[in-house]
Amino acid sequence: MKLNTNYSNVSDSYLFSTIAKKVAAYQAANPGKKVLRLGIGDVTLPLAPAVISAMHAAVDEMASAATFRGYGPEQGYGFLKDAIAAYYLERGVKLDSEEIFISDGAKSDLGNILDIFSQDNTVLIPDPVYPVYVDTNVMAGRKIVYMNATAENGFLPMPDYSVDADIIYLCSPNNPTGAAYTVAQLEEWVKYALEKDAVILYDAAYECFIEGNSAARSIYLVKGAEKCAIEFCSFSKMAGFTGTRCGWTVVPAQLVSGGLSAHKMWLRRQTTKFNGVPYIVQRGAAAVFTPEGRAQTAENLNYYKQNAKIIAEGLKQLGITFFGGESSPYIWMQCPHGMTSWQFFDYLLENAQVVGTPGAGFGVNGEGFFRLTAFGSRQTTQEAVERIKALLGK
Ligand code: PLP
Repeated sequence: MKLNTNYSNVSDSYLFSTIAKKVAAYQAANPGKKVLRLGIGDVTLPLAPAVISAMHAAVDEMASAATFRGYGPEQGYGFLKDAIAAYYLERGVKLDSEEIFISDGAKSDLGNILDIFSQDNTVLIPDPVYPVYVDTNVMAGRKIVYMNATAENGFLPMPDYSVDADIIYLCSPNNPTGAAYTVAQLEEWVKYALEKDAVILYDAAYECFIEGNSAARSIYLVKGAEKCAIEFCSFSKMAGFTGTRCGWTVVPAQLVSGGLSAHKMWLRRQTTKFNGVPYIVQRGAAAVFTPEGRAQTAENLNYYKQNAKIIAEGLKQLGITFFGGESSPYIWMQCPHGMTSWQFFDYLLENAQVVGTPGAGFGVNGEGFFRLTAFGSRQTTQEAVERIKALLGK
């Protein structure tokens, strides 16, 4: 046998595993010190009561032969796909529920979608960004071209027609910078993709953090996107499903290339390699869209948004330049005193026992930046901000 040698080209460990190891080593050496984590983008609030009671009811259904469910449809139950289609319709996006595929989260689908694309595609990826896009393509041996997201372009790179690309990743609101594209900016991307016969893989995992119409909540708000874009979304941040696992991917029926239908291929792929998300979890996810579920999850999102404001206010007081925090749960701050992002990581851990994420872990343009998340508890957030202020305000 021969192993996939492309794996030699990805770094040994995933960014967050490296951070976890460093923090564990610090804690082992300093057992008396309380470490505050504003690093990994995991939520801390429990699932909403509406979700919990829907899941309890689904568990009860599993206890009786008359209502028991075995294998479900690989692409998700109709009740959940219909609820998601209605969620899009509220924003004026009309999707057929058959175009929505339920998954165990956006991360799996972002990796798995590559199955339907030929290896000789050139991939265009913003830098910095969620590391999964780069790593999954490196594992597959694809050629990657990067586009710079910097303070100068507001961390929102726009199409460059001198660059040829076949698969374009856009993450909006962006992890880690928090920058989010407007509909007008996405129109430029759709135009570029249609002209280049490229596909846009649009990661909308943080769309729920967008306030009003300040940015686009779906790429399908742009006419023509149904011919060139696949959208990924998740219940993880929207409703605290990071551990429960549920997301969705929209593969429009009109997305075709060379006489092949991406939609049919994805359906074929999923029915072959995936057996669906647990019924209990899908019932919980559907409850997110009920009036109670909507109100309860909005309350949780507001809690995180308030945390973002607390972090932003602390940095403002220190006179530190930062981005994000408005349409996103991430604050993207410049490292003080010209430190590199890993130097600042160590400095903050050792002197304030606060954990964040070094910007360099998201790409070369992330060097010199640091990501703080608003997903902590209120107490952790407040305490961490006080510690940062005490350390950097000296
Ligand atoms: N996309 C982005 C941009 C993310 O930051 C994350 C998780 O942090 C995901 C996708 C993964 O989401 P899920 O929990 O649905 O796999």
